[in-house]
Amino acid sequence: MPEIFRTAPVKITSESAVVVIHCSDPRYQPHFQDFLNAGLKLERYALIAVPGGAHFLTLVDYLPKFSWVGWRWLKFVHDVARAERLILIGHDECRWYLDMRFGHDARRLRERVIEDLRCVSTGITERFPHLRVELFFARLGGDHATIESV
Ligand SMILES: [Zn+2]
Repeated sequence: MPEIFRTAPVKITSESAVVVIHCSDPRYQPHFQDFLNAGLKLERYALIAVPGGAHFLTLVDYLPKFSWVGWRWLKFVHDVARAERLILIGHDECRWYLDMRFGHDARRLRERVIEDLRCVSTGITERFPHLRVELFFARLGGDHATIESV
């Protein structure tokens, strides 16, 4: 292992600022990156990757302190990135949802995650009316993932 690693050069662009929120599940990281880079043609974006993805923004009543921190993070990242666009990606078989017992079977879990994405989108639009919010849902299938707009 090298003591110092130098990354490949990255083109400096003035593309519109984007914030992405998705789950930190390691199974999905290469697929999320591929989707964002190749699918949406994003060379760079600000990222909040936590267990359950945007779910933390739904917990205003259930876990208010947790939710408060989440909204603070989003406000901070939004301001730093001067965000104009927000991308939320939920995914199938999310272990956070299963661990928190928010989902029991795969079909209900998918519905629950998408419902939460829409709920968060509404809350974001109220707080950041200029932001364009896009929602996606990812599902693993063998060595690839399918990601759909929801
Ligand atoms: Zn997850």
